Amino acid sequence: MTANPKDSKIPSLEVVLAWKSGGLEEKMKKKIYIAYTGGTIGMMPSKQGYIPDPEFGKKMIEKIPELKDPTMPHYEMVDYDPLLDSSNMSPRDWKKIADDIQARYDDYDGFIVLHGTDTMAYTASALSFMLRGLRKPVILTGSQIPLCEVRSDARENMVTSFQIIADHPVHEVCLYFNNSLFRGCRSVKVNANGFDAFASPNFPRLGTVGIDFKIHIDRDSLFKHKEQNVPLEVHNLEGPRVGVLRLFPGINGEFVKNALINLEGIVLEAYGVGNGPDKNRDFLQALKEANDRNVVIVACSQCLRGNVNLGGYASGSALAEVGVISGYDMTTEAATCKLFYLLNLGLPIQEVKSMMRTNLRGELTIPPKKTN
Ligand code: ASP
Repeated sequence: MTANPKDSKIPSLEVVLAWKSGGLEEKMKKKIYIAYTGGTIGMMPSKQGYIPDPEFGKKMIEKIPELKDPTMPHYEMVDYDPLLDSSNMSPRDWKKIADDIQARYDDYDGFIVLHGTDTMAYTASALSFMLRGLRKPVILTGSQIPLCEVRSDARENMVTSFQIIADHPVHEVCLYFNNSLFRGCRSVKVNANGFDAFASPNFPRLGTVGIDFKIHIDRDSLFKHKEQNVPLEVHNLEGPRVGVLRLFPGINGEFVKNALINLEGIVLEAYGVGNGPDKNRDFLQALKEANDRNVVIVACSQCLRGNVNLGGYASGSALAEVGVISGYDMTTEAATCKLFYLLNLGLPIQEVKSMMRTNLRGELTIPPKKTN
């Protein structure tokens, strides 16, 4: 039997020559696709304050020459048109990013989405649901000070995102900022001014970066989750009428009723473990009427940490009685995007409610003791 040269452990002449000339390393280098969607990282000053710079792609490499270091992966970068302050992001823009990733999925080892910090946690959550079956790293990052400024935090966020993709391939949508790698659908913007702009209050960080990288690729075994055993599929979140309502002392039934008109789903930011004003009959009536119209009402907590337990107090049980369901420890950002995602699937409402309480992308922890 003749041996197949492909099975041979002896490197071919071509491989040896490529290795000697440094070409092999070059060939084996990872490739990163960078989408600059807008945001402070690539902004420049204007009379009205910072605005995105359409030339950012070209300027970035002058400002971060480290990205051309021979140890760094290759990259290609595209400046979106229009570039957005992330306050303007909508589900349509999320779809554009997701489609862009899907179109280039086979050609790159990882994806960096440069994004404004204001709604970065929403986009990270949205992409987690939209990119079903993702097996490559998608890292959202940006900065609090634009790269054009001397004290910018952009350089570190970019260089480290490159290195995470090169050496620690996480298989999910993440957010990297200020030495921390977060699961995208667990992240929240917590600081408007500091470099530590993000946190993941209800889930451990996927990684921390100091002198060494400590990246937990298999944290919570998301990669092994059965949802991941499918080819990459992009889901659209455009369409469903979804809202968010934060309770406050003095909230009245009429206001809630008006807020719920025309909605298909709402995240109710309730107090503490999921409590609301159970003595306010108009308030409860407004929720009940909406639930009877098949509006999905999901309670998240106004607290950053901890989980909803609607059975904990009479003021929470009253919400459950009118049809409110628990969002457990989901962030408002994740719960909102999940509502967009599930309502878009066109499932029967009971199934939407049941999937809201199911962990789909690592976005929630079901408490061991069954709560509402
Ligand atoms: N307003 C900016 C944005 O979200 C803030 C930032 O990028 O930090 O686009």
